[in-house]
Amino acid sequence: MVFDTHCHLTHPKLRADAEALVSRAREAGLVGCVTIGTGVPDARACLELAAGTAGFVRCSAGIDPFSAHDLGAGFDDACAELRELLRGGGFCAVGEIGLDYHYDLDPRSVQAERLEVQLALAQELDLPVVIHVREAHDDMARVLAAHPRCRGVIHSFTAGCAEAERYLELGWYLAFNGVATFNSGESVRRAAKITPADRLLVETDSPYLAPVPHRGKRCEPAYVVRTLEQLADVRGEPAGLLGRITTENAHRLFASDDVSDFDTTVA
Ligand SMILES: [Zn+2]
Repeated sequence: MVFDTHCHLTHPKLRADAEALVSRAREAGLVGCVTIGTGVPDARACLELAAGTAGFVRCSAGIDPFSAHDLGAGFDDACAELRELLRGGGFCAVGEIGLDYHYDLDPRSVQAERLEVQLALAQELDLPVVIHVREAHDDMARVLAAHPRCRGVIHSFTAGCAEAERYLELGWYLAFNGVATFNSGESVRRAAKITPADRLLVETDSPYLAPVPHRGKRCEPAYVVRTLEQLADVRGEPAGLLGRITTENAHRLFASDDVSDFDTTVA
């Protein structure tokens, strides 16, 4: 049993194949996944896609730093639209939202403002948050510390133990992906080792970051099994047990009242 907490099934590289990807994911032992909306139109597409999967695919909605940059002055209107969309139900989280200092598309203060507006929205709607953070851990930890009532996951956690400890202290989950299987992923593996089992999540970030031996190819949710096995190996735990625990974590984090068919009964 395993749950992919972060994929982009509406991405142009996956969308046409979504049905096949979902059935391959089921065959690989997945019990569900969350497809992440990176902007309002994408979130609508995620909602539509999820609707046809009997609860297997769940979805989130947020405005990530890239969509926010494209929106420019239209961000405020899009955010109002996002609020209405989320209030309509069917979403299990707000995200992905965050800070990206790698691409640094907008001034950092502007990125922070957009993040905080959406954190407030998550708090208002009592939804968990999916955080995107790249080369911005100090500022992210500060922002999250200032929003103690927000909860959620640091997606694609690819930093080391020091950063992991800060987020864990703040009560956040950490989601690991294919990077943990890369040769260069030693510090990420160390971080995965010190993360308490009840705060650990796995993801693919499909179509990106395919784990070894698929590295460099198009990633899909079924590959999350490979990352789970790697984490289990690093932590010295049976993969079956870690799969069950991380699935329960995903269930706990993303559980919401309006979705009753979230399935954890599969052994
Ligand atoms: Zn993503």
